[in-house]
Amino acid sequence: MSSPTELGPSPLAQGDLQISVAEARARIAARLSPIGGVERLALAEALGRVLAEDVISPIDVPAHDNSAMDGFAFRGVELLPEGDSRFRVAGAVMAGDAAPPAVAPGECLRIMTGAVMPPGLDTVVPLELCREEGGVLSVPAGSLRPGENRRRQGEDLARGRPALARGRVLRPADLGLAASLGLTELPVIPKLKVALFSTGNELRDAGQPLDAGCIYDSNRHSLAAALRRLGVVEVIDLGLVRDEPAALQATLERALREADVVLTSGGVSMGDADYTRDLLTRHGEVAFWKVAMRPGRPFAFGSLRRPTGDGPAWLFALPGNPVAALVTFYAFAQEALWQLAGASRAPAPRLQARSATAIRKRPGRTEFQRALVEPAADGSGWQVRPTGSQGAGILRSMSEANALLVLGHEQGSVAAGEMVEVWLFDGLV
Ligand code: AMP
Ligand code: MG
Repeated sequence: MSSPTELGPSPLAQGDLQISVAEARARIAARLSPIGGVERLALAEALGRVLAEDVISPIDVPAHDNSAMDGFAFRGVELLPEGDSRFRVAGAVMAGDAAPPAVAPGECLRIMTGAVMPPGLDTVVPLELCREEGGVLSVPAGSLRPGENRRRQGEDLARGRPALARGRVLRPADLGLAASLGLTELPVIPKLKVALFSTGNELRDAGQPLDAGCIYDSNRHSLAAALRRLGVVEVIDLGLVRDEPAALQATLERALREADVVLTSGGVSMGDADYTRDLLTRHGEVAFWKVAMRPGRPFAFGSLRRPTGDGPAWLFALPGNPVAALVTFYAFAQEALWQLAGASRAPAPRLQARSATAIRKRPGRTEFQRALVEPAADGSGWQVRPTGSQGAGILRSMSEANALLVLGHEQGSVAAGEMVEVWLFDGLV
């Protein structure tokens, strides 16, 4: 177990600590190490999972020199510098045929895309650049260079070369690549087990009657979905927990028996009962941060001891307000989960778009606005505008958004037309 100083000064000793979003992210990243492990999955099951080992190509891809075009194959040295080069058409070779016998000088073969290049022939003239009449092919001078339109054996991937690196999050093309090597399964890292629960006496499950003074629990649904979206998480839904020490303790202990990560919402703000903090702190080392952000602010992160004696379980305790819960999930937990899952991903794209409106903002905190990014009407690129009311509890404006508009810690107010950072919800793959 590492020293409390790695998480910053103890919040219990010094009261809640105010830190920036960047600092919170950096502190979390510095603490985590991947969970690890290996399981072998059929290609069809491996999409979106993290590769556990490097994949080395067992074969050359392509396995033979082959034609990149439908056309005629001949010897490049026989092309004349002027006038038409003429070749007798000696036969044809189709994709999937074994290599045909060599042809004599002055001869060519009709060839299809992907067909094996006959021995000695190195150049393919596409159909549209040549003429064939009475079994004789004419290729006008200057229409191509020797060696053109031939794909080389191993040019895609040579045998023994790394094809896919460990840590890669597998995408459609990767599965195609693995299949092109003849592989039927891949070694992937087992899914992270994330125990999820909501806290609050006022919460009811959808489907239950809504008692006076109560609200439906939305966080467990949005967070479970955000977790599943990652594709590398098994969600353990521990339901609703009342703000009572015994209930909280029982749920936390179950979470620590079953999960690698404990994700909670609610119960970490200033006004919340101290026993939450006492309980968490008794189970490990937890920092309670007041992050300089909106929405968000209260957020706790730490490492908790597991009864199994395995490495720590990681705690992410998110604020209860539904938008704050999701924004802090995206700002802190999501990347951390990728890190725990062993993924080496390029940072998520953070794009710039033109703000359609002026936005008031004071330096000294990071602001996340729910926003819609869309093509500007004048064709000048992408523009972004906030979607309705930005209260931390108003989920509708999050649901209407397709991005977060992010105003950095140091940034002041934004004028209409200024470029701002956006985090898009969707990507192509
Ligand atoms: P808390 O962080 O527990 O103080 O909660 C802040 C606000 O978020 C309160 O208005 C809660 O009722 C609300 N809230 C907390 N948890 C949830 C939840 N799971 N679903 C919807 N709203 C919640
Ligand atoms: Mg609460």
